[in-house]
Amino acid sequence: MPCEVKPRLVVLYGSQKGQAQSIAEGVAEVAEEHGLVAELSCLSQNEKYNLEKETAPVVFIVSTTGDGEPPDNTLKFVKRIKNKTLAADHFKHLRYALLALGDTNYANFCNCGKTIERCLQQLGAKQFYATGYADDGIGLEVVVDPWLEGLWEAIKGALSKMASDRTGYLKGDAGDSAKQTPDSSIPDVQLNLLSIADRQNGESVRASAEKVSKIASAASSSSATAAAATEAAVTDPRPASPVGSLGLASLSPGAAFVPTSAPETHTGDAAIPHASLTCSLPALSESALTIPALPPPYLNVSLQEVDSIEQISGPLNKESLHEVPISRAVRLTRGDSVKKALLLELDVSAYQQLTYQPGDSFDLFSPNKASEVEDMLHRLGLQDQKNHRINISLRKDTKKKNAQVPPYIPENISLMYLLTWCLEIRSVPKKAFLRALVEHTVDGVQKRRLQELCSRQGNADYNLYVRDQSLSVLELLTAFPSCSPPLSLLIELLPKLQPRPYSAASSSLMHPGKLHFVFNVVELPACSGRPAGRRGLCTGWLFDLINPALVFPGKAESSGSPSLPKIHVSLRPNHTFRPPSDLSVPFIMVGPGTGVAPFIGFLQQREKERQEHPEASFGDTWLFFGCRHRDGDYLFREELEGFVSSSTLSHLKACFSRDDQGEEKKEREGDAITAKTRPRYVQHNLLLNSRHITDILLKQNGCLYVCGDAKNMAKDVNDTLIEMIKTELQVDQLDAMKTLASLREEKRYLQDIWG
Ligand code: FAD
Repeated sequence: MPCEVKPRLVVLYGSQKGQAQSIAEGVAEVAEEHGLVAELSCLSQNEKYNLEKETAPVVFIVSTTGDGEPPDNTLKFVKRIKNKTLAADHFKHLRYALLALGDTNYANFCNCGKTIERCLQQLGAKQFYATGYADDGIGLEVVVDPWLEGLWEAIKGALSKMASDRTGYLKGDAGDSAKQTPDSSIPDVQLNLLSIADRQNGESVRASAEKVSKIASAASSSSATAAAATEAAVTDPRPASPVGSLGLASLSPGAAFVPTSAPETHTGDAAIPHASLTCSLPALSESALTIPALPPPYLNVSLQEVDSIEQISGPLNKESLHEVPISRAVRLTRGDSVKKALLLELDVSAYQQLTYQPGDSFDLFSPNKASEVEDMLHRLGLQDQKNHRINISLRKDTKKKNAQVPPYIPENISLMYLLTWCLEIRSVPKKAFLRALVEHTVDGVQKRRLQELCSRQGNADYNLYVRDQSLSVLELLTAFPSCSPPLSLLIELLPKLQPRPYSAASSSLMHPGKLHFVFNVVELPACSGRPAGRRGLCTGWLFDLINPALVFPGKAESSGSPSLPKIHVSLRPNHTFRPPSDLSVPFIMVGPGTGVAPFIGFLQQREKERQEHPEASFGDTWLFFGCRHRDGDYLFREELEGFVSSSTLSHLKACFSRDDQGEEKKEREGDAITAKTRPRYVQHNLLLNSRHITDILLKQNGCLYVCGDAKNMAKDVNDTLIEMIKTELQVDQLDAMKTLASLREEKRYLQDIWG
């Protein structure tokens, strides 16, 4: 009997938090359905792949971290392909496609993907499918979904092209096959996006509808499975193979768009339902849906009653963490301020490993909230088993590629410990998670809504009701009461509980043995799916921990105040976000709100250096600070003014976005220009000092640092710098952007941003 040899496909990923990895795993999983054998590896596993000899198409899926850096597991690969000694035709034989993940809120969008692409092309590799640049700032799926959809046709095209090139070669046509691939032959993601939009009302909807009916029987059999899911199920009863249950709703389109509890707006006699997390409206409610593949289950999970279980407490990997005492906790903002900013002082004197420099950050490990762990146990029907030992093993029949028991879950732990310290139960459910939940939802209306939320057609609703609201898994389960996922599904699909980083807000020269950091208590407002607001996980936990012992500004610290607890931290050095080593170099710091934190460290260090080297020449220092009210949330005001008095800080430019409303009105009547030019945000103040700043950056070889909110501020500052360069150098937008990019490359324009 002839034996069919399936073509190979190599899938390589570089991932920091697992997103690129899970997309790559998805590609590898569905490859079989497209008649391909996928070989999946992390870019760090260079013993598993050999690009130098690769004859199959290669798909790269890579994310970018921090200030445009490659993920940790991709650093070595990038270094290897950047090697200048490699010949220009080193990868001449290679055909690749690349999906880059990034976030436009951060500098150097998709930089790792772009770097890999540049190197591959410089080394002769040829792209067979246009690169996708997915933006986490607006939702990765906007690009990822159409990119994945077009990938398979592109792979088929690449395979036949590669085969015909080989045949040509064997026939004696040994020219560079790559030369024969005109760029126009590369399928374009943009085109794909357009074609998807076009198809919304046309043929493809019909095709999708056909697909719905074709697979309806498979889907309904899985819904029967869902109905059978017991309250206390720990392992997913999904069939191990996703094939056949890949498809869409068991409900026909339009069958369920107004649940009994649909929120309504009353206008006169008519009650108009409006969309919410649990309720959709036409056109979505009537649309055929394209939903992602069902993630194949891969874990067996059981709970075992044991006489005693070693009671581990505290975070994972304790060996690499340090449990340090909080020595002081101060509230920096006034009681009536919108934001609660707190300063914590840690006593790190006993820990050599925690020796830090200004610009470094610390990872802080906080547990999940006890009441939410209880709610989750209750929701899973496992409250009576919370002290049972959890046993996790791989399902033998799993179709998941490279499946492994999550390495961060230790052996011999209780269910309670798992939910408290191992899984991010606050994480925002990804579409794959919603897709898996569909299989465990009994109520038809709820099931259809979950399908909508994970579908391509439901992108906008997913962003609006899930992603933008930072909805947690628990909140989602509360909104969909007929959904009863097994514990195994949570372990398979929830990410590891991540530590939260905080910037050091002190210099150890000024405060030996101490480390300060500052944070705002994050308040997430109520929304559809969250009846009451809640605090951020780590900042809420810290606040509860220190609240009894908080010191308020201006009030004397009483000696009898309650003692403060210990917390777990580890150092997170940042080798680039450092004050210039040459003391004569002028530098500018832009840090509104808690973004001022690292600059307090910079200035404390500078103050000490000035005392120790009075003869040295020191460059000018500028700080741009901003907050709402001068009297409410001007963080470190006295200390900053002290730096100005001691000439450590040459220029302090503070602005207040909500102050002086009355005064401004008066000014507007008398002097329109003053009112108009009053700086409200840091970028306005930068603009007012444009000449000085461009002079420092472009003529004096100085540096500019930005720290704080990634979503708005960092972008606004970046745009303002471009405007300033345009004006000062009399160049166009593109040249101004190039100038800024070269400042970044020279590490003279540095960002440490979050949000
Ligand atoms: P989570 O439970 O993780 O919830 C955060 C959710 O709330 C997110 O979905 C987010 O979109 C939303 N959100 C709303 N407002 C904010 C906000 N202001 N910040 C973050 N998320 C918000 N934070 C500081 O306050 N001070 C620092 O010095 C500081 N330094 C950092 C340094 C680095 C290198 C990085 C990456 C982050 C830093 N952060 C800092 C942010 C910090 O790590 C946490 O993200 C933040 O404190 C929220 O954590 P949480 O667990 O309370 O909130």
